[in-house]
Amino acid sequence: MDVEPLGLHHVTAIAGDPQRNVEFYLDVLGLRLVKRTVNFDAPDTYHLYYGDEVGHPGTILTFFPWPGAPRGRRGTGQTTTVAFSVPESSLGYWAERVRASGATMSTPHTREGEDVLVLLDPDGLQLELVAHPDADPRPPWEAGPVPAERAIRGLDHVALSEMGYEMTAGLLVDQLGFRLSREDGNRFRFDVGEGGPGARVDVLCQPDAPRGLVAAGTVHHVAWRAPDDPVQLDWRARLVEQGLDVTPVLDRQYFHSIYFREPGGVLFEIATDPPGFTKDEPVERLGQALRLPPWLESERSWIERQLPELKVPERPGRPEASPPV
Ligand code: ZN
Repeated sequence: MDVEPLGLHHVTAIAGDPQRNVEFYLDVLGLRLVKRTVNFDAPDTYHLYYGDEVGHPGTILTFFPWPGAPRGRRGTGQTTTVAFSVPESSLGYWAERVRASGATMSTPHTREGEDVLVLLDPDGLQLELVAHPDADPRPPWEAGPVPAERAIRGLDHVALSEMGYEMTAGLLVDQLGFRLSREDGNRFRFDVGEGGPGARVDVLCQPDAPRGLVAAGTVHHVAWRAPDDPVQLDWRARLVEQGLDVTPVLDRQYFHSIYFREPGGVLFEIATDPPGFTKDEPVERLGQALRLPPWLESERSWIERQLPELKVPERPGRPEASPPV
């Protein structure tokens, strides 16, 4: 492959109650709600996007919240962990913060030279906060409730649970340009491009685990970054050549997407960096109002009546941009 993915673009998961979801990701994890829209395939339900100030690719976690949705089951054929990168020495702060929120969590521990805190979101989605000796240069969202020097920098990696791993490893290395960078028991780490936070995936070989069941508290798919449309089309052609079923390019409004299942069953997406979340609202107002794609605008009043009320905590813009009150 001439150009490999630039790293993670976003992860999309299923949630239950949207209000509980928004409160956890804004108030506890300190992310920014960068887009409030609907599930284009089921426009009477929300699609919520969290990320950094502008929702840069590699910082984005999105949810389809279905009120009352049954719990899913973590297992093989799934992305089972979504890990965020946090500054070194910040896990003590995070452990206190997460404990105070009442969320289920582990005690911080060291795994292969990285400090890790495992926690569950209110729907049981497994998250990790990973602190590295190497600084993550990505700037955090500074106007959230977490001090900038502790705040999440973006996605670190995802972990895929697989019955075997050779076929998945083959796709990652031979078709997507990843390289094996570490092996620790049943955990195989692959980096892509420059590697490091936001550009890696752990493949867990778990032949005894149950098959995953996608519902609330589980990941629906993981998306990799394509720099632009022509590169995405090129990758699509190559993947089809390898015998994979790949969707046509779909317009997701903020990026263009193709989807396919990797050999172990995990749903992969390749999403373009452009046009991004400022396509339909300015940076300072991201996430404040319900945005609909042009083809759903005519149904706006019906859609607004169907959606549950969502109270989003008021946050000022960047600190230096806000007048003192
Ligand atoms: Zn997606």
